[in-house]
Amino acid sequence: MPTPTVTRLSKSRIVAGLQCERRLWLGTYRRDAMETTPESQAVFDTGNEVGDLARVLYGPGLLIGHVDNTSKALAETAEALQRNGKRQTLFEAAFQHKDVLVRADVLKPVAGGYDLIEVKSTTSVKDYHLVDCAIQAWVIQNAGIALRRVYLAHIDSAFVYEGNGDYNGLLVAEDITTEVTELMQQVPTWVRRLQKVLRGSEPSIATGEQCSKPFDCPFFEHCRSQEPAESKYPVTILKRSAALTRALLDEGFVDLRKVPAERLTNPIHQRIRKASVTGKPFLDPAAAEQLDGLGYPRYYLDFETINFAIPCWAGTRPFQQVPFQWSCHIEQRDGSLKERAFLDLSGNDPTRNFSESLLRSLGTRGPILVYNKGFESGRVADLADWFPDLADALLALNERMVDLLPITREHYYHPAMMGSWSIKKVLPTVAPELDYDELDDVADGGQAQLAYLEATHPETSADRRATLDTALRRYCGRDTIAMVRLLQALAGR
Ligand code: SF4
Repeated sequence: MPTPTVTRLSKSRIVAGLQCERRLWLGTYRRDAMETTPESQAVFDTGNEVGDLARVLYGPGLLIGHVDNTSKALAETAEALQRNGKRQTLFEAAFQHKDVLVRADVLKPVAGGYDLIEVKSTTSVKDYHLVDCAIQAWVIQNAGIALRRVYLAHIDSAFVYEGNGDYNGLLVAEDITTEVTELMQQVPTWVRRLQKVLRGSEPSIATGEQCSKPFDCPFFEHCRSQEPAESKYPVTILKRSAALTRALLDEGFVDLRKVPAERLTNPIHQRIRKASVTGKPFLDPAAAEQLDGLGYPRYYLDFETINFAIPCWAGTRPFQQVPFQWSCHIEQRDGSLKERAFLDLSGNDPTRNFSESLLRSLGTRGPILVYNKGFESGRVADLADWFPDLADALLALNERMVDLLPITREHYYHPAMMGSWSIKKVLPTVAPELDYDELDDVADGGQAQLAYLEATHPETSADRRATLDTALRRYCGRDTIAMVRLLQALAGR
């Protein structure tokens, strides 16, 4: 058990402590228990990229470095402010008050003082941003700096990149001075409370809603491993029903199988409960009738996409899902299957080749089966916008799309799906030999995006790129063969 000796806070540690005091404590004394996933690292990297770009957009200015040396950063900031007759913008200026350290993204000189601009890689102002800025403003003002206004610069989701490195307009600064001024009054109380937490032993706090709001906590596995195992079928498998599951938990129901049948009114909930109680899957014969009417050839289609906070291809918007890969299994009436695929790891804009190859392979007739139609049809609509000469042919694909997700949700459930109709949950119940767990490198959409980023990075070796190419093709192909097997199961074959 570590000896609690630390009292220094930072704005991110205060934000962590306001989410959960145990998180602050663990983040200070038990960093070995923290789990950093590639996905959370990618979010962190995106924040850094947006921060770098902000320094270009709000520059020129002086960057206060010394990321790992607080004393030097404070000294350099003080020196820069003292000789700031040039009225220079400062980036990452360091300030300290009452053992709370902050680094200001942008401190811009204005008449009578400075404006503080905090840069975030989100597309709107969130409540926790206001908390973050209130802590900064409190420290900066108490360090003797006259702050005029506080802005939150976030990404404008309507921005369209025109190319040539022109990112003017990507960030939009919202004036949050009023909200921040109000919140600042609470900062001294937060600081006293959290410094007390740091002087004590590990807080005894059970996992709950706070573990994912406003951020996924990196200590979740650590905390869960110290709690008694929950029921095999907890009431929380009733997804997207927060009010109901809260009420059931408050009434003392932990195990869904113990909930009286009449307590659930939603037919899907009733089905999940019944399958959990009996251990038997549910298959409605009406699914077969619905699916038998589909013609041939049948195209089972899936896309993989990449989205960048800072768009890199002309014509795209921040966070726009840009498709770089598709996979398709084509089934003929005699049951024969062939696979077609497209993958572009060149790092160039993949959309034209993606569109043309798709049109060549999907022909003009036969149902196109997808799982969650809104995603694939939305990407096809984007492609039609970008390529007017292909628009009619592309939009005709959307007319042929058949969504297997609502059909599955309506007609099929297996207790092992644990309340989820994600294809990753459904597939092991209809074709256990095709489990996603046996895939190397890429086994879900998030990993596919990370694989794309790694494969297109200029420093990635040819061997590694080839490995990732294979992994991406196996993964996307797994999604489409999964749909073939699912349809066969739904049709009772
Ligand atoms: S997992 Fe939950 S309970 Fe544990 S530290 Fe994180 S937020 Fe707190």
